[in-house]
Amino acid sequence: MIFETLASTGHEEVVFCHNKDAGLKAIIAIHNTVLGPALGGLRMWPYKTEQDALNDVLRLSRGMTYKAAVSGLNLGGGKGVIIGDPSKDKSEALFRAFGRYVNSLNGRYITAEDVGIDVNDMEWVLKETDFVTGVHQVHGGSGDPSPFTAYGTLQGLMATLNAKFGNEEVGKYSYAVQGVGHVGMEYVKLLREHGAKVFVTDINKDSVQRCVDEFGCEAVSLDDIYDVDADVYSPCALGGTVNHSTIPRFKFKAICGAANNQLATEDCGDEVERRGIIYAPDYAVNAGGLMNVSLEIDGYNRERAMRMMRTIYHNLGKIFAISKRDNIPSYKAADRMAEERIQTIGKIRLPHMGNGAPRFLGRMRGLG
Ligand code: NAD
Repeated sequence: MIFETLASTGHEEVVFCHNKDAGLKAIIAIHNTVLGPALGGLRMWPYKTEQDALNDVLRLSRGMTYKAAVSGLNLGGGKGVIIGDPSKDKSEALFRAFGRYVNSLNGRYITAEDVGIDVNDMEWVLKETDFVTGVHQVHGGSGDPSPFTAYGTLQGLMATLNAKFGNEEVGKYSYAVQGVGHVGMEYVKLLREHGAKVFVTDINKDSVQRCVDEFGCEAVSLDDIYDVDADVYSPCALGGTVNHSTIPRFKFKAICGAANNQLATEDCGDEVERRGIIYAPDYAVNAGGLMNVSLEIDGYNRERAMRMMRTIYHNLGKIFAISKRDNIPSYKAADRMAEERIQTIGKIRLPHMGNGAPRFLGRMRGLG
């Protein structure tokens, strides 16, 4: 049953991690390492069943493969989940036990923060393994990725405007931003710096008020965001908000935001395309956070990080070109671009370049 699932998802390896004394029940899924080590965050969640945890880690790790591949990173896709309640089940032993499992994979999987995990938990993981990113800046970490994700989203937006309107003048257009948390707030600030008209909504009223008072945005209610007469819809809160009940309400001409899994289902991607709304595939737009932590592997450098964010502009341009070339919706074009890169880069690893030959030389001499 499990192998049947793995055959359909294409995973390389799934590790079930258990330590009774530390209370650890975790799963690490390595989806694909053709391009490099599998990097992906660790999520802690009180999953109702073990099957739910397995489904989540398989889905998320596969997503990381696509995100890294489309972003031009030399990374594969992986993810970890710990079954537990982040508000009461955390301990040093739990995270160190998890860190030992990460270490046992010898760099095939590199972990990072995700939902339910903070930088302090990562420091416990760091005690047991070097294969961890997203640690505190004092340990050579890159700090909060949100400003980078927001800046990357702006790069994706410029490419989207260019594809739709033939120019990338951010300030010429209007925006409906859903969610002004870590990423959304920074993104709104950037939009306003360009002089754009910005509508915002959030369940957190203080955040909305801050956008109005500090940045001069216009507040709208939670549900009204879908009806706003703006050029661009920027989901920066939850997934699934581009769905069959919201799409008919859209007057937007483009969708570009930082939220993960914006399309409720694939056919919503087809539907927006049919309506002439350009969709910037979420995992290509919001890759700034992944790019930023990936730099920790070679030694973090902020300038390199900012340069890397700019590649999001070019990546989106390529996705829209594939969409045109193959006459397919942009969400499919992003998948195709990722798959093509994995295939072509996988092939340049052949022929074998002779690494490791010295080990065999001695053996051959022995034969003589
Ligand atoms: P966050 O929790 O800081 O912000 C999310 C905001 O959305 C909060 O202010 C919350 O109150 C608001 N919100 C929740 N439900 C809402 C609703 N129904 N309507 C309106 N607002 C609502 O999270 P974040 O780090 O800013 O991430 C935002 C999105 O971007 C998420 O989907 C996340 O997965 C994605 N993302 C974030 C990063 C990053 O670097 N932080 C990287 C890649 C992707």
